[in-house]
Amino acid sequence: MKLLITGGAGFIGSEFVRQAVKKGFDTVVIDKLTYAGDLERLKEVEDKIKFYKADITNKEFIEFIFKKEKPDIVVHWAAESHVDRSILDPTPFIETNIKGTQILLDVARDTGIQKFINIATDEVYGELETEEGQFYEDTPLNPNSPYSVSKASADMLGRAYYRTYGVPVITVRPSNNYGYWQYPEKLIPVVILKALNNEPIPVYGRGENIREWLFVSDCADAVFEIIQKGKIGEIYNVGSGEERKNIDVVKSILNILKKPESLITFVKDRPGHDFRYSLNTDKIEKEIGWKAKIKFEEGIEKTVKWYLENISWVERKLKYLKDYWEKVYR
Ligand code: NAD
Repeated sequence: MKLLITGGAGFIGSEFVRQAVKKGFDTVVIDKLTYAGDLERLKEVEDKIKFYKADITNKEFIEFIFKKEKPDIVVHWAAESHVDRSILDPTPFIETNIKGTQILLDVARDTGIQKFINIATDEVYGELETEEGQFYEDTPLNPNSPYSVSKASADMLGRAYYRTYGVPVITVRPSNNYGYWQYPEKLIPVVILKALNNEPIPVYGRGENIREWLFVSDCADAVFEIIQKGKIGEIYNVGSGEERKNIDVVKSILNILKKPESLITFVKDRPGHDFRYSLNTDKIEKEIGWKAKIKFEEGIEKTVKWYLENISWVERKLKYLKDYWEKVYR
């Protein structure tokens, strides 16, 4: 069984690639290696995969790869993934997330594959305004940021290609991931890095926004289960039930690192900041028999430990981040 994995040098994609190799899949990875992609994440499996440095918006090259490799299953993780960057400039989000997904779907339709796993996000549903309620797979999409709009478009394109052309698409909507190898622009690695350097920790608004935290190995594991047992044309939410306010996430990390809460600095809120996301996961639990294994307290301990042990990797990313931080945290 041959897997073609897009975005495999990214945070979640690389976890998926490492697991795919362990499970014995024939594994082909496509990645453009943007600022967010890094082959170091794949070092432990580099001699067991085939890697193409390729942009999913380059149709000719994507066609060439599909014809040469003849994958059975496509798992599409590649995306511009950071909401704050989409607010600074939506253009690459529209290009990669919408046009890139369309190209992959076109090529998959024209060359023929068994399954196309289209990775979306809980952000396609928009926001929950209170601490009550959940998103179900049939909740209407109502995205608010340029990022989530681009992901909702890609999600809907996948379902349109299933309905219209019969491309065997399965849509997966995971909640916020955290864990090893996450690029230090996202909340958890930013907090770890700033705390270690005793620098002010920027927290949007009053830190009241709520996210549902899914450990990265659980997310990859869910996708393997969906590949095995999921139904073509269906949508699956992938969540953990582990909801936390951002401020509580920050406090947990400070507590593990034994750093003072006085490092917390509230900054101007992100424009259009969604208050809360929460996924109902009855469908994946009942139909696929999958449930997240890692509780937040365990996952955050493991994550902080990993960053402490791999701090040189994180520090190498700092040179790309200083200018960016100045633009977003004001
Ligand atoms: P990431 O930013 O760490 O990785 C994205 C990867 O895609 C990078 O390796 C990058 O080089 C590659 N890429 C970007 N543009 C490309 C292009 N045009 N052609 C080929 N490769 C390209 O992202 P992530 O956090 O690992 O997220 C992976 C996927 O999961 C994304 O689709 C994201 O929307 C989705 N998702 C992420 C989360 C989360 O919390 N991180 C939650 C739900 C869904």
